[in-house]
Amino acid sequence: MSEIRVLSFDLEGTLVDLEFSRLVWEEGVPALYAEEKGLTLEEALRRVTGEYAEVGPERVEWYDLRYWFRRFGLKGDWRKLLERYKDHIRTYPEVESVLQRLSREYDLIIVSNTCRDFLDLQIRELRPYFTHIFSAPTDFGMLKSPELFTKICRELGVRPQEMVHIGDVRRFDFEAPREAGITAFLLDRSGEEDGAYTVRDLEEFEQRLLKLRGPAL
Ligand SMILES: [Mg+2]
Repeated sequence: MSEIRVLSFDLEGTLVDLEFSRLVWEEGVPALYAEEKGLTLEEALRRVTGEYAEVGPERVEWYDLRYWFRRFGLKGDWRKLLERYKDHIRTYPEVESVLQRLSREYDLIIVSNTCRDFLDLQIRELRPYFTHIFSAPTDFGMLKSPELFTKICRELGVRPQEMVHIGDVRRFDFEAPREAGITAFLLDRSGEEDGAYTVRDLEEFEQRLLKLRGPAL
């Protein structure tokens, strides 16, 4: 096993919970849509959800609030919508202390499918722990894929074997980095998933890293 130099983290569902995003997509956008089209909230939510599903999370536009404002013909500033819900951004309880410890030994980065505007707001006080923050859609126009992880390794000047990634979505955070030769952990905070590389929180991830490193020689 090569020496690990870089730890890569997903953002939403990994460092911060999903409530902020849920409010933006499932309350904020439908409310504006209802107002714009003269619909009830319920009907607006039904239509908006249907259109989200039509695009789907495998396409990069799905993550882009500007795209949805254009598609739905919504007036007003999408940034205001983010501002309105920003007090609902929550970091998971163990995150800060784990990052504090890990940042003394490794370079920490974020690799996220969240667009830059969403991402910057959600990182807030965690920002100082990270040397690089990559928004796949904003910085590369793509989603997390083996190609993206390879590009990021090149940009950082590290080999895939020197990086470990963790995140909560199997396709993007587990399969994609592994296909690029990066050791990956699937974070499952619900405790339902089972697997040799599944962990329940970042404290367990930290312990697994120690084991990966093996006994000190
Ligand atoms: Mg996630």
